[in-house]
Amino acid sequence: MPDSAAQLPTPLPRPHRLLGLAALLVAFLALALFSYRLSEHYGIAEMREAASHQLDILGAAIDSEVTRHASIPSAVELNADIVALLRGPSEGQDILQAEANSFLQKLNDHLGGPAIFVLDTSGTVVASSDWIFSDNLLGSDLSYMPFFRDAVRGTPARHYAVDHIRHEPGYYFALPIRDEAQEWKVIGVAVVKSGIREVERRWLAQEAPALIVDRNDVVLLASPPEWRYATLRPQARDALDRLGRQQFAGQPLGEISLDIDLDGADEGRIVRLPKHLPKHLRDDVAPAQGARPYLAMSRHLSGTAWRIVVFSDLRPVGVQAATHAALSVAALGCLLLGVLYTRQRRRLARGREEARAMLERANQELERKVEERTADLSEAVAGLQREVQERQRAEQTLRAAQDELVQAAKLAVLGQMATGVTHELSQPLGAIRTLSANAAEFMRRGDQATAERNLAIVEQLTEQMGNIIGPLKTFARKSPAVSSAVDVAQAVDSALFLFESRLKKENVSVTRGIEAGRSIAWCDRNRLQQVLVNLIGNALDAMREEPVRRLSFSVDVASSGMLALAVSDSGYGFSEEALAHLFEPFFTTKQPGEGLGLGLTISRDILRDFGGDLMAGPAPGGGARFVVMLPPLPSLNRGTP
Ligand code: ADP
Repeated sequence: MPDSAAQLPTPLPRPHRLLGLAALLVAFLALALFSYRLSEHYGIAEMREAASHQLDILGAAIDSEVTRHASIPSAVELNADIVALLRGPSEGQDILQAEANSFLQKLNDHLGGPAIFVLDTSGTVVASSDWIFSDNLLGSDLSYMPFFRDAVRGTPARHYAVDHIRHEPGYYFALPIRDEAQEWKVIGVAVVKSGIREVERRWLAQEAPALIVDRNDVVLLASPPEWRYATLRPQARDALDRLGRQQFAGQPLGEISLDIDLDGADEGRIVRLPKHLPKHLRDDVAPAQGARPYLAMSRHLSGTAWRIVVFSDLRPVGVQAATHAALSVAALGCLLLGVLYTRQRRRLARGREEARAMLERANQELERKVEERTADLSEAVAGLQREVQERQRAEQTLRAAQDELVQAAKLAVLGQMATGVTHELSQPLGAIRTLSANAAEFMRRGDQATAERNLAIVEQLTEQMGNIIGPLKTFARKSPAVSSAVDVAQAVDSALFLFESRLKKENVSVTRGIEAGRSIAWCDRNRLQQVLVNLIGNALDAMREEPVRRLSFSVDVASSGMLALAVSDSGYGFSEEALAHLFEPFFTTKQPGEGLGLGLTISRDILRDFGGDLMAGPAPGGGARFVVMLPPLPSLNRGTP
C-alpha cells in the first residue's frame, strides 16, 4: 500500500515563505499604486474635459456679453456731428455737442450698454451717452486711461478698467477717430464701455473657483469674490499702485497673492490653492495639511487680453483613485483566494481520488486474498473430506476386521471348549442311546409302560443337552455391536455357564460378589460376554498349575460414574514384562497352539468401542486382577452394586 504521508504537500521552508509573503505584499502594493495612478490619470483626464467644457461655456458667455460691442466705435467714427465736434472749436460747438450726445445716447439705448463716449486728443470727454445724468462723464479727463493712450496714437485699444467717477468696472473698446480732411489725422477717440454685470453674476454663481485674469496677472473677476484684484504672483507694489490708479480708479491691487503659476495651464496644470481660500472651500482642510490640490485649466479669451481660469478640486479624483486601488487590491485578494480555493479543492479531490484508489486497491487485494484463502480452504475441505472418507473406509475395514477377529476369537474359545462340551454331551448321548435301545426292547416285549418311562428320561436328557448347546449357539453367533441395558451379574453368570464343566473339573471356587439386577451397564451383551469369557479362560489357564484356584467377581462404581467390574484370580499373576506388554497384539506367554495373544487386545477394543475400558494389575492376595470399566445407563439412576 503506498505511503499516504508521502503524498502530503511538504510546507515551504520558513525563508521561502517569508519571501513569498514579501512578494505578495509587493504585488499588492504595485497593483494598488498602478490602479491609483491609472484611476487618477483617467479621473484627471475626465476632469480636464469637464473643465474645458466649462471654459467653453464661460468663454462663450463673456464673448457674447463683452466683445459684442467691439464694432460700435467704428459706427461712432462715421457720425459727421462728432467729427465736426472734434475738428476744433467753432461757433456751433454746443449744438454739435448736443447732437453728438443725442446720437450717442440713442446708440447706447439701442445697444443697452452702460456708456458710449468720445474723447478729444487731450483725453477730455466731449460727448457722452450719459449726458442726461448728473454724474455724466462730460468734461472728465480720461487721458490717464491706458486705452486712451493707445488709441490717440492710432492703435485701437481694449481693456478692463474702473472709471473713477462711478467706480464702475467695465470693458472699454477704444478706436481712434481720424479726419479725412486732415489727412486721416487722429482727432479723437471713440469709446464703448461694456458692462460686465452679467458676467459677474454668472461668475459668482460658479461652484468651483474660477478667475478672469488680465495681461498684468491681476484678477478681474473671481469666484470666490474675495480674490478680486488679487494677483497670481507677488508683484512690485509701485507698479501695482500705478496700475491701480490708471486702470482701477485707485483700487488697491495685489493685496492677496494667489501664488499660483498658470504656465501650461492651457492643457491643465495641478496647482495648490492658498490657505486663504474662502472658508466654504477649505472647511475640511486642516491648516497643517496646507493647500489643497486643484486642476487649473486656463484659456485666452479671443479678442481680449483676458484669461479665464477654472479650478477643479482633485480630492474626489484622489478618493476615487483610492477606492479603485482598494477595489483592485480586493479583487486581486479575491482572485488569489479563488485560486487558493480552487487549488485546495483540487488537492482535496486528488486526495479523495487517491484514497478511493487506495481503498479500491486494498479491496482488490483483500478480494484476491479471500479468493486465495477460499481456494485454499476449499482444497483443505476437499482434502479433509477425502481424509474423512478414507478414515471412514479404514474404520469400516477395521470394524469388519475386528468383527472377523472377534468371531475368530469366539471360534477359538469354542474350539477350546469343544472337548468339555463333547464330554458334557457324550454322557447324556450314551444314556439316550441305551435308554432308547431299552425302550425299543421294552416295546417289543410289550412293556409299554417301561418303554414310556425310558422315553420320558430321553426327553429330559435331550432338553439338558439343548441347555448345554443353547448358550454356545448364542455365543458363536456373528452379530453387530448394539448397546442396551445389560445386567452385569447376568452377563457374568452366562460366561461362567460356558465354563461350568471346566470349573468343576479343575475344582475352581467361584465367588460372585454381584447381586442380580443391581448393576446395569449400557453396552452390547454379547460382546461383554465375550470379554468375560476371555478373562475367565485366561484366569483358568493361569490357575491350572496352582494348588488353590479361586475366581472372584465384584462390582464398584468409579468416581467418574462408570461401573468397575473386577475379575480376580489366584493364578501365577504377571511378570513385569508381561504387565508392560499385556495389551499388545500377539503378546502371549502360552505355548504355540494354546494362544494367539489377541484376546486382551480385542477385549479392550470391544470395551473402548462402547465407551468402557480394560485395565490389569496384581490381585490383593496374589494372582491377577482385571477391571472392566462399563458405561452406566445414560439417563436412568446409576444403581449401586
Ligand atoms: P492368549 O490367552 O492367547 O495368550 P491373551 O491376550 O488373552 O492371549 O493373553 C495374553 C497373555 O496375558 C497371556 O499369554 C498371559 O501371559 C497373560 N495373562 C492373561 N491373563 C492372565 C492371568 N489371569 N494371569 C496371568 N497372566 C495372564
